[in-house]
Amino acid sequence: MRLVFMGPPGVGKGTYATAVSREFGIPHISTGDMIREEMKSGSELGVKLREYVEKGLLVPDELVTEMVRKRLSNADCSLGFILDGYPRTLKQVEDLDKITKIDLVINFTARDEVIIDRISGRRICRNCGTIYHIKYMPPKTPGVCDKCGGELYQREDDKPEVVKKRLEVYRQQFAAIIDHYRARGLLAEVDASEQAEVVIPRVFELLRSKGFTMK
Ligand code: AMP
Repeated sequence: MRLVFMGPPGVGKGTYATAVSREFGIPHISTGDMIREEMKSGSELGVKLREYVEKGLLVPDELVTEMVRKRLSNADCSLGFILDGYPRTLKQVEDLDKITKIDLVINFTARDEVIIDRISGRRICRNCGTIYHIKYMPPKTPGVCDKCGGELYQREDDKPEVVKKRLEVYRQQFAAIIDHYRARGLLAEVDASEQAEVVIPRVFELLRSKGFTMK
């Protein structure tokens, strides 16, 4: 089951991908997370990536594709995977086709006001990476991680001015990619305006209806 999850930033792709990964036993591969890891490592590549990410720009195709190609060659991807955040350009669609065959692309949709509400409330633990939402999934003590006591912070690119840029960049590219997968009969749409408890069972049902079984 080789899946691609698509949708604007803040639609909840990461949450649905984590749930599907657990239920169906395939890895969740987020290029955003991979890029942040690389930046944190302080490597030469990480320094290069930071120049783009902090401005809310997409990273050049060849850099991100090489990271994805390496990741998909890992043994844990042999039964499938969920790609989250990739492909984001038509060039990446083309490159992904050369790397592997995709079974299904799920496009998650939500109204703009829902997305803005979700993104601006998001907080992440600096220490263990757990994600909270100040309204929908608040920590017991504001600003402190329930799991490890780490400090919660707002990602630089979750701040309103960068979010606007990210939505702009996303929209510019997204229509053509969706059209491409729709034309190939690989696209399924899921309305993700509601809470995750409602959306997740919808995704499981969709995958089972396509013949995908649990691990
Ligand atoms: P995300 O967490 O998916 O929103 O990704 C955070 C940032 O990483 C984006 O704003 C981009 O700068 C970069 N990024 C993630 N995935 C890609 C991709 N497929 N192509 C180009 N840049 C990406």
